[in-house]
Amino acid sequence: MPTKLHFFGAAGGVTGSSMLLEHDGASVLIDCGMFQGSKTEKELNYRPFPFDPTSLSAVLLTHAHIDHSGLLPKLTRNNFKGPIWTTPASAELCAALLADSAGIQEMEVEQLNRRNMQKGGAQVTPIYTRADAAACETQFKTVAFNAWSQILPRLRARWWNAGHILGAASIEVEASDASGAILRLLFSGDVGAGGSQFAADPEGPSGLDFVVMESTYGDTERAKLTPAERQAKLVDEMLAAHGACGPLLIPAFSVERTQELIVDLLQAMDEGQAPRGPIFVDSPLAVRVMDAYFRFGKAQDGSNPFERLKQSTWLQFTESANESKAIERVRGWHIIVSASGMCDAGRVRHHLQRLLWNEQATVMLVGYQAVGTLGRLLRDGVKDVRIQGEHIKVAARIRSLDIYSGHADAPGLVKWAQARGPIRGAIFLTHGEPLSRTGLQGRLQSAGAAAGGVIAPLLDACYRLEGVEAISETIGAPRIPQDAPARHDWHNARADFLNILGQKLQDASSDQAREQLIAKLKSQLAA
Ligand SMILES: [Zn+2]
Repeated sequence: MPTKLHFFGAAGGVTGSSMLLEHDGASVLIDCGMFQGSKTEKELNYRPFPFDPTSLSAVLLTHAHIDHSGLLPKLTRNNFKGPIWTTPASAELCAALLADSAGIQEMEVEQLNRRNMQKGGAQVTPIYTRADAAACETQFKTVAFNAWSQILPRLRARWWNAGHILGAASIEVEASDASGAILRLLFSGDVGAGGSQFAADPEGPSGLDFVVMESTYGDTERAKLTPAERQAKLVDEMLAAHGACGPLLIPAFSVERTQELIVDLLQAMDEGQAPRGPIFVDSPLAVRVMDAYFRFGKAQDGSNPFERLKQSTWLQFTESANESKAIERVRGWHIIVSASGMCDAGRVRHHLQRLLWNEQATVMLVGYQAVGTLGRLLRDGVKDVRIQGEHIKVAARIRSLDIYSGHADAPGLVKWAQARGPIRGAIFLTHGEPLSRTGLQGRLQSAGAAAGGVIAPLLDACYRLEGVEAISETIGAPRIPQDAPARHDWHNARADFLNILGQKLQDASSDQAREQLIAKLKSQLAA
């Protein structure tokens, strides 16, 4: 029976990571991520899996991020009963993240059903519920880094620290056949940037037949900052925010980014580089995953950098909505770290609503801001925003400090691939927007990283692996069109259009000019 590799997600996009390996008559799934891109992609979450969940023998999970783990409870809901192999830290983070994700699914569907009921539309069911997430949690089977686990009689796997987030791994798979021939594969998961005081540098084996690797920043080169340089930049921002006499609001992702930030903020205060003041961590999910950081956090020197968060009297975790609301009444210098990182959901929107008009306040964006999100609008300097239907003038200082990244940049990815050599077959590139992926493909090809070339598989593509040959199998049409413009669907186009319109109206010299512009557009639409 031939060995086959299917690409069921993050092929031509960044989200929905999922690959299926058929070997020796059994099937193993590597990651089961949620699609989070355009509406067209997100709609895939609601469709049946492109494989039979009951036919899977096991799942191997690289890490806890929702775009890699988010559809695991849907597998359980669809009668998958096998083990989900991953590291202890990933299992613990998944417990919090999947319960949170299930809560969001239930809430969104409830709102949708209420609207549908008013309009006489059909009722929909959530992708999965909190009960499914809890049931899924019992299927986790944990593995230590660097030790082999026997997954099937003729397939074993080993988890290597990928240095991306807590517990994140690259997974090495060794598959043998009846004749004793061995096929060696490596699934990169997300590869860390290295040189961080919070995570190990990415590790991995060398001498492989095939490598599947991510390409998120495949065409981007970032300035390398040492931990000290990064800290200095953060201190500058703290001093400037303090000098402006208002609070500092930092929208941040609940997992990892928030924990790293508060370690750095506290260090700046403890070492007297920045004035002391309360730091509010206003994100229930961030609070719920803290235990995992206390238990599994490890710096390059072996110490736990998150340990210091246990003792600080300046740190305040606000879990209930009332505690969150009470932050409004705090006077004097204080910092609020709240999710979501791109300001498109969560409690941070409430803080933005009450602080954006205030010219003494500072809003510091620290991560990736996707097109169409409120975070991106703020970063791009928009002076007027709408939050929960309310029109708000942006007077606060808006700062952007993109120095906290969990991903290797293009040179880092090439270096990572070279360290895996010799690669006798091909490298398959996943987990990247089309331009990033093509960029990395070129870089890897010129570096001669793999003897079998560099392949950019399309969504739902399948390859037969024979020795070191990867032979493309003919399959039906992919579930969604694969050309770039189609991925950028009309919802994105509408968001772009509304952004441009908003900017034009704002830039217009007078209200009269604004009215003229609107009249002109209306007549165009009526034509
Ligand atoms: Zn990730």
